[in-house]
Amino acid sequence: MKRLLETLVENNREITKKGNLASYIPELLNADKNDLGVAVITLDGKVHSAGDCSKKFTMQSISKVVSLILAIQDNGKERVFEKVGMEPTGDSFNSIVNLEIKQKVKPYNPMINAGAIATTALIYGVSEEEKFEKILNFTRKVTGNNDIDINKSVYKSEKLTGDRNRYLAYYLKSNNTIDGDVEDILDLYFKQCSIEVNCIDIAKFASMLANDGILPWSGERVISREVSRIVKTIMVTCGMYDASGKFAVHIGIPAKSGVGGGIMAAVPKRMGIGVYGPSLDKKGNSIAGTHILKELSDELDLSIF
Ligand code: GLN
Repeated sequence: MKRLLETLVENNREITKKGNLASYIPELLNADKNDLGVAVITLDGKVHSAGDCSKKFTMQSISKVVSLILAIQDNGKERVFEKVGMEPTGDSFNSIVNLEIKQKVKPYNPMINAGAIATTALIYGVSEEEKFEKILNFTRKVTGNNDIDINKSVYKSEKLTGDRNRYLAYYLKSNNTIDGDVEDILDLYFKQCSIEVNCIDIAKFASMLANDGILPWSGERVISREVSRIVKTIMVTCGMYDASGKFAVHIGIPAKSGVGGGIMAAVPKRMGIGVYGPSLDKKGNSIAGTHILKELSDELDLSIF
């Protein structure tokens, strides 16, 4: 396995040149465009990795999986899906059109920004600090890494430049889709996006999803089988934004990407995969990371379809 992963990194390193770093969050421009890494955790808990696997990056949209899980755990699936839909969009992850013209009140799904702002708003806690602790502690638990923390510079950069998310959130509030203080909700959203991980961390997270909610390395159940199923299904249909259909046809693995360059992919009953490559394609997905997943899927016959 290690040899296969090393070959994949080597073969795809050149592809990083064809994409670009995310620039709309200025701090993300500090990443190294050539970085590429992949980690696989099989369900016996074994870790295999190659390339730039210890490089840290912010979860960005991968954190949408965390807020969806916590929102369902706190509110039940009925209430969550009253507030946010479960249909894919053909639009970009931060699209305004999609909210304002097509559906008006409910964001299409929890994997686009508007949908994630809505699920983040549903997380219970007596204070904003408590809510963030909950997000952070959950992330630490499912990655088995207690050192995980927020990248403060990215958080500040997002908060300073996040006007599009501000627009989405105030629009949701005006339609009563979210309750509470909009700035507090946004602050929590920016913080969860700025949680810093590496490939191995997200591969571990994915291995829990692949294992129906049980941590492979300890046997502990952290989410129900049903929540794990719902999350993986939404990852298939919506996890790669408006490239989800193509990704399902060519790769066929439930996955969630983030503009920090990470992709978290969960192969049911088989393995968790974490990929990092901050050079992105036009849809905001890691360009070389997507290629690695394609080759890995072909090589090991990982498509669920
Ligand atoms: N923090 C980013 C944003 O809100 C997350 C988007 C992403 O990773 N696609 O725009």
